[in-house]
Amino acid sequence: MSLLGPFARDHRWAQRHLSHYVEGDLPDTRRRRLDRHAAECPDCARGVRAMLALVRGFAALRGRPATLPAGVLERFRAEADRPPHPP
Ligand SMILES: [Zn+2]
Repeated sequence: MSLLGPFARDHRWAQRHLSHYVEGDLPDTRRRRLDRHAAECPDCARGVRAMLALVRGFAALRGRPATLPAGVLERFRAEADRPPHPP
């Protein structure tokens, strides 16, 4: 998969916004942009599923609305800022 061009730009953008997406704090236009990208990017689709599973897992464990322990989403975001694949 090429790391150049609009797809790669969208990919990097989507990876950085995955945690906001699953937390529901992306505005509609951005949410749709991420939806569109995830529809054609297996990496991001998997990322969304993994994040949702994590959020739901924590919610189920705690028996209350989804909140993650401090630092978890920050670690995901730091991870997302790294290139998706080693060169
Ligand atoms: Zn992607």
